Amino acid sequence: MSVSLSDIRAAAQRIAGRIEPTPTVLSASLGAVAGVPVHLKLEHRQSTGSFKLRGATNAILQLSVAEKARGVVAASTGNHGRALAYAASLEGVRAVICMSRLVPGNKVAEIERLGADVRIVGNSQDDAQVEVERLANEDGLVMLPPFDHPHVVAGQGTLGIEMMQAVPDAATILVPLSGGGLAAGIAAAVNAINPATRVIGISMARGAAMKASLDAGRPVLVEELPTLADSLGGGVGLDNRVTFAMCRDLLDDVLLLGEAEIADGIRHLYEQEREVVEGAGAVGVAAILAGRVPLDGPVVALISGRNIDMTLHRQIVNGEPTRFEALDSANPERAA
Ligand SMILES: *Cc1c(COP(=O)(O)O)cnc(C)c1O
Repeated sequence: MSVSLSDIRAAAQRIAGRIEPTPTVLSASLGAVAGVPVHLKLEHRQSTGSFKLRGATNAILQLSVAEKARGVVAASTGNHGRALAYAASLEGVRAVICMSRLVPGNKVAEIERLGADVRIVGNSQDDAQVEVERLANEDGLVMLPPFDHPHVVAGQGTLGIEMMQAVPDAATILVPLSGGGLAAGIAAAVNAINPATRVIGISMARGAAMKASLDAGRPVLVEELPTLADSLGGGVGLDNRVTFAMCRDLLDDVLLLGEAEIADGIRHLYEQEREVVEGAGAVGVAAILAGRVPLDGPVVALISGRNIDMTLHRQIVNGEPTRFEALDSANPERAA
């Protein structure tokens, strides 16, 4: 199962008017560092604070009338949960987000504010996932996963069209990489529009499930570890149907970054660009600052989200050490 440029163009038409068109801006500060033009796609300014709204909206708009009447369900407490809650409520579709008892109250309140029903079950995300499957099987709610779904991938891919429109001569596009819905969709669009443009996925060194899976030649389990790029945590799914093969076939490279490098990206975006960005959203800029990106032509870095704990953000921009940088030396061989 794959997603083509025509699927992505159809998604762009479908979701237009329901998402914010986000700007692509030239960064003078990063251009000076890189010696080539560096553009930033400011998708962290998207409604709900991340690009996940594109995929969620594209998927919800393609539900049948009967499915819309039954509603959708997911276990994400992060950006996918927020996006699904918001996209569903705009369409008048019920969304149920299942969470464990350990999820902090502010996250519960935020998802409720965005219009979802929250169901608190058990003590782990696994318990929450069991409840998702029960609601799907017994009550007929539709499970909408965060990345491994062709409609989600096509929605995220609309960013590839927008970046190529803004910077048609882009040599390299930098995309944060976790389950790969974002990178697969963007790479499908970009490769079809201009095969000469590179698409590079970027993950944190600590717990990079897609990188480990690509190296193994099949989806593998990776231990989830604390990281500043918390939105990039989690596995690719051992029964992955869409994103593993697309990332394998379409990405030009995958880079891994250490925690101190990610903190530098967050700090640079704040001080030089006046943008509040979460760790996952800052990895493209972090890779440029770390000298890890080919600099043979214009670069576009996708800034994917802004939902960072503001106490942590203040620590980072004040240059105070956080509990994360020390983790780089915990496994130095992987924080290269
Ligand atoms: C989900 C997410 C990603 C990674 O997207 P995948 O499709 O899982 O690879 C990157 N950045 C942010 C802010 C996210 O929320």
